[in-house]
Amino acid sequence: MKCKFCEWEKHYVKIYENAHAVAVWGSPYVKGHVKVIVKRHAENLTDLSPEEAAGLMDVWIKVGKAIQEVLHPDIINWQINGNWVRHVHGHIYPRWQSDQDWGEPIHLPTKEQAHNKEYHPHELSHEVKTQIADLVFHKN
Ligand SMILES: [Zn+2]
Repeated sequence: MKCKFCEWEKHYVKIYENAHAVAVWGSPYVKGHVKVIVKRHAENLTDLSPEEAAGLMDVWIKVGKAIQEVLHPDIINWQINGNWVRHVHGHIYPRWQSDQDWGEPIHLPTKEQAHNKEYHPHELSHEVKTQIADLVFHKN
């Protein structure tokens, strides 16, 4: 059975891609959250070929630049996680000093916390998402 990130097209909206990686919109609970997924199923960063690693970094930085230019966060947290889905992927978490958890690691709500409305979504509008995607596309 293929994992969720192998079947990213079924679950996410694409922002940008190259031959080795794709950037998609992430959790609505973090403003501007982006996931960058390696296209081949690989469980560890150390499993990537140099070309795949470069492809991952290329997509990650290009989309990160567009996020910086449009959203003007105070900082971006760049993370590589494999806790929930064992398929190499990175995150772009734009952060603002006004964030409730500024200075602490990003904490995404569990399904239960989201259901109980302990966290509030900060999803970007369609217009802002389009602006970011257009910026990445036209600069590359
Ligand atoms: Zn996979």
